[in-house]
Amino acid sequence: MTANKETKTEAEKAKTAKTAEKEKTAKTAEKAKTAEKAKTAKTAEKEKTAKTAEKEKTAKTAEKTKTAKTAKTAEKEKTAKTAEKEKTAKTAEKEKTAKTAEKAKPAKSADFRKSAGNPDTKTPRQTISKMPVVKRAIKPVPLSKLPLFPISKKPDNRANFKAIWDILQQLYPKPEVELDFETPFEILTATILSAQCTDRQVNTVTQFLFKKYRAIEDYANADPAEFGKDIYSTGFYNSKTKHVIGCANAILKDYGGAVPDTMKELTKLPGVGRKTANIVLSRGFGINDGIAVDTHVKRLSGKIGLTEQEDPEKIEQDLMKLAKREDYDNLSLTLIFHGRRVCDAKKPKCDVCAIQEMCPSAFI
Ligand code: SF4
Repeated sequence: MTANKETKTEAEKAKTAKTAEKEKTAKTAEKAKTAEKAKTAKTAEKEKTAKTAEKEKTAKTAEKTKTAKTAKTAEKEKTAKTAEKEKTAKTAEKEKTAKTAEKAKPAKSADFRKSAGNPDTKTPRQTISKMPVVKRAIKPVPLSKLPLFPISKKPDNRANFKAIWDILQQLYPKPEVELDFETPFEILTATILSAQCTDRQVNTVTQFLFKKYRAIEDYANADPAEFGKDIYSTGFYNSKTKHVIGCANAILKDYGGAVPDTMKELTKLPGVGRKTANIVLSRGFGINDGIAVDTHVKRLSGKIGLTEQEDPEKIEQDLMKLAKREDYDNLSLTLIFHGRRVCDAKKPKCDVCAIQEMCPSAFI
């Protein structure tokens, strides 16, 4: 009886255990199923999210492309419009220029003459309206009708001198000497120093020289070696020293210390020729005795056809036959200015030269 009871209990226990096992298995299965479902749902969710992101990305890219295309198109349209505007503006400008040129045609050469070569002119165009009209006293003779010099074959352009001089006077109304000085002896010294040297460099030297040597006796008693050093940068200082000190001594000895005011006396001083004497007379004493012919005057008077001579004294004589006495010094200074500013020895600016129409050397 006890055995049966034990067996029964055992069986019940086994049954209970089995049931429990089953329940456990069922629960595990349920759990697994639930986990599986959750996983699947998660995966689905992820896929959905990824798809949505992809769609958004694609949409964004499309939007960007569209925007870029629109911008490009707008840019193209803008460029086309700008080009069109520029074209229209250019055409209008051309038409305007052509009209202006057409209007200005008859007055062209006169305007050109007024502006070019003026030392006060920044650019030829700026002063065209400001410059006074040039009234020619003499009608220029066409170059083709000019007689030729028999030897040099340079055209004799003397017939055009007055017309040329008129124009040059308009361009250089007040030609001022560029050397600094206060006394006749200082202009004599500065002129001697200016040989083969620029006026600017001479002024740099005389700025100190004229303070160091004040009276003519200071020059006469100067130590040649020291004086040579003082004027060294003007070049040819040995001969210049000799001439300046020699002039001072001669003036003290022969003229009582006063610089003479005649061509004859001045040209007796050491190193003083007609050019220097003319400069001292006109600028130191206001006497127009002759025309100072320097390298510019020589070159220009030949180029313009005012002389066929090569010797400065003969050139001076030719120029003196053309100019009035009161214009002697101005003519010299004017030709110097024109030579420095327009008719350069190496590159003459014939294209802007005011006297090109009457110059036989223009563009040669
Ligand atoms: S050579 Fe030329 S720059 Fe010189 S004066 Fe004649 S036109 Fe003028």
